[in-house]
Amino acid sequence: MMFATIIGHERPINILTRALANNTLAHAYIFSGQAGIGKKLAAFALAAAVNCRKAGPRTGCGECPSCRKIASGGHPDVHLVESGGEEIKIDRIRELQSDLALKPFEGEKKILIIDGAEEMNAASANAFLKTLEEPPGDALIILVTSMPQGLLPTIRSRCQEIRFLPLSRQTLAHALIERRGLSEEDAWLLAALAQGSMGRGLEMDLEQEKAAREEAALLWTGLAQTSPVELLSRAETLAKDREGLERMIDMGIEQLRDALVLRETGDERLLVNVRGKILYEQRAEQFPLQRMFLDMDLLTGSRVLLDRRVSAQLVVENLFMKLGR
Ligand SMILES: [Zn+2]
Repeated sequence: MMFATIIGHERPINILTRALANNTLAHAYIFSGQAGIGKKLAAFALAAAVNCRKAGPRTGCGECPSCRKIASGGHPDVHLVESGGEEIKIDRIRELQSDLALKPFEGEKKILIIDGAEEMNAASANAFLKTLEEPPGDALIILVTSMPQGLLPTIRSRCQEIRFLPLSRQTLAHALIERRGLSEEDAWLLAALAQGSMGRGLEMDLEQEKAAREEAALLWTGLAQTSPVELLSRAETLAKDREGLERMIDMGIEQLRDALVLRETGDERLLVNVRGKILYEQRAEQFPLQRMFLDMDLLTGSRVLLDRRVSAQLVVENLFMKLGR
């Protein structure tokens, strides 16, 4: 966990490394931005840079005992609290406060990282405010959150907020080629599906995603050639798995969107799934533009109904009948 190994996020990293070099680090930071884009990694990289023992610019070497301990979660002066979506209770905050009041054992600073900081309840947040009002001199606090608006305004105003933006598709694709050894086409697909999150891009099952898209393409393009009886029977099967049906419709929307984009721009790089190009071209030949827009309305409308907990059977039967006309 070093700044050097973080993909993207040049701006936040520049702000932090400059503050380190000039000795102007704040006492408390908020790292905000969408889930899974690398905020927590950056918090650990900052912790490593602060406590790194190697001489020279303080960027975190990744090799000294301190950097290693931080990477393995075993550094006595670096504490991580993870809400895991559950309330952070006041007892936990008090415990951390008494620990922060101590001198660092071996590092330059005591560092507290709270991941999911918006989960502090009112009592915890108010207790925590005391620490922010009178921070111990050798402590650094990093609140990590995808919902900064969920923090008390009095907490926000006492921290320096650093915003992390989703990674661009190009940056993600490039990193996925390097880290997962993917082909350009596969990396480009996953980069679109990961929506700016390196974490998601690394975790996603490529073969599963590709197979699901082929299945969806077969389903959505085959409806017009399917008999009404067969349509109803397929609808019944799909309706049994609501989540599966939602994913299927999402992929239908994604593919139709790709077809429209290809038709309007001719630019393959804008497609989510370049592999579907031939299919999209066929669709564009087969259907007038207006029909494609109508189908898009039907798909997105069905998705909304599913979100509103309307009967899956009803939604999918209606959708199939209209798309199969
Ligand atoms: Zn080091």
